[in-house]
Amino acid sequence: MTTATKYIFVTGGVTSSLGKGIIAASLAKLLQAQGYRATIQKLDPYINIDPGTLNPYEHGECYVTDDGAETDLDLGHYERFLNVPTSQSNNVTTGRIYQSVIDKERRGEFLGKTVQVIPHITDEIKERIQILGKSGDYDIVITEIGGTVGDIESLPYIEAVRQLQWELGESNAIVIHLTLVPYLKAAGELKTKPTQHSVKTLMESGVQANVLVCRTEYELSDGIRTKLARFCNVKREAVIQSIDASTIYDVPNLMLEEGLDKVVLKQLELEWIQPKLTLWNEFLTRHKNPKSEVTIGLIGKYVELQDSYKSILESFIHAGATNEVKVNIEFIHSEYLNSENIKTSLSHLDGVLVAPGFGERGIEGKIDAVKYVREHKIPFFGICLGMQMAVIEFSRNVLKLADANSTEMDEGTEHPVISLMEAQKTITNKGGTMRLGAWACKLEADSIVSQVYGQDEIQERHRHRYEFNNNYKAQIEAAGMKATGLNPDTGLVEIVELSEHPWFVGVQYHPEYKSTVANPHPLFVAFVGAALKYSKTK
Ligand code: GLN
Repeated sequence: MTTATKYIFVTGGVTSSLGKGIIAASLAKLLQAQGYRATIQKLDPYINIDPGTLNPYEHGECYVTDDGAETDLDLGHYERFLNVPTSQSNNVTTGRIYQSVIDKERRGEFLGKTVQVIPHITDEIKERIQILGKSGDYDIVITEIGGTVGDIESLPYIEAVRQLQWELGESNAIVIHLTLVPYLKAAGELKTKPTQHSVKTLMESGVQANVLVCRTEYELSDGIRTKLARFCNVKREAVIQSIDASTIYDVPNLMLEEGLDKVVLKQLELEWIQPKLTLWNEFLTRHKNPKSEVTIGLIGKYVELQDSYKSILESFIHAGATNEVKVNIEFIHSEYLNSENIKTSLSHLDGVLVAPGFGERGIEGKIDAVKYVREHKIPFFGICLGMQMAVIEFSRNVLKLADANSTEMDEGTEHPVISLMEAQKTITNKGGTMRLGAWACKLEADSIVSQVYGQDEIQERHRHRYEFNNNYKAQIEAAGMKATGLNPDTGLVEIVELSEHPWFVGVQYHPEYKSTVANPHPLFVAFVGAALKYSKTK
């Protein structure tokens, strides 16, 4: 193995949503399974500094890293596949690039020069790409470039790739172009022309794709592969088919069959060995051969767009495999839930998860749902806003504090059982200012969580401004809702449980960000286990 880091760029052509993130993660998995230290980085061409300020309807879930970066959801795939934490350096946006260049300009660092896209913006991009490589922690850095080739926004990134390929040499930096080979029903044929055009567009910027990964609904024939190779200037073996898969977790094996890792390593002049995917394949076997099934209601307000809850859905897949259970998720829109339809909406479920979220819309439905599962002893898992709703419901219906609320929803509430954290009170800017990233939490002995985690102190990732109001702690605990996890330094309540309930856990943090194929999150595993147990009592 050489010491210099090798770079792989993944660009996309023809259309968005082809799954560059999954291809990048699958390739990284195959490289990791051969002993290479691989990481993945996502470059996003939008002008937001990070996706933290984006509505989930725009861009899906905002994924949070240990170091508190609010990032693209593709980083979640990287962690789930590789089981290696990502960081701030793994996601860069145009907004961040420009901000950094403009800050340097204000500090006079450009010594009177005119600041331009080339070289200043492209230099900044090149620097960000190489930060991970220069850390010495990785043999291979895969950089996924968001958007589609030909977009105005992508141009500086493609230019940076061109320059880097030139500077580093072709055995140190290669380009994988992910494209679509559509099937035209009327003609009964797969069509290569869109791919030819997108490769040509890439070439207009001086970048020649080294490998083509072709998304397709049907097998690519030999003839099509040869044609693509000929027209797109790539080797025949570098035309890789990526056929639709029943689960994203099949993609590493599909890429292995197609030889993506082999062709990439050959071009990088690195050795190929048979990847060791034993644990991965054991997971797949369990995932595909469930012994029973459960139905879990996911209650949220962004349920029309499943990407909004990406990490939660994937955590259920991991936890299902561990339990050898098929987890069916029923999406329930909190805005349409009320005390009249709650029974018909929830009574058949084996468990209910109340999702994270912001703002007032849909919260009364979430509170009604918590009441129902609390009273009917249905396993309950509340995450972030879901945990806050559990505290509000308990305060209103058990403590009889009728207008108990979060000050996020009602600033003037008489009983602010959830209130703005002290540190948040002076903050006015929105981006990157929540309580973010990994924080410690001490678990109470004799609690569900201490049993589930099997340890007494944990680290979990956060993304919130509001918190359990400790002025109500004694009262709430005396009535049977226990604070079973506290931040050791601040005393902030991170976990609540109900004593008189088989499985009722609300967590202020986001366990879903840490669930991976290799390490399914213990809370999701235990929740699915509780749902399974409950399903047998019905
Ligand atoms: N809106 C709540 C807060 O800011 C919950 C946030 C969340 O669910 N991520 O505290």
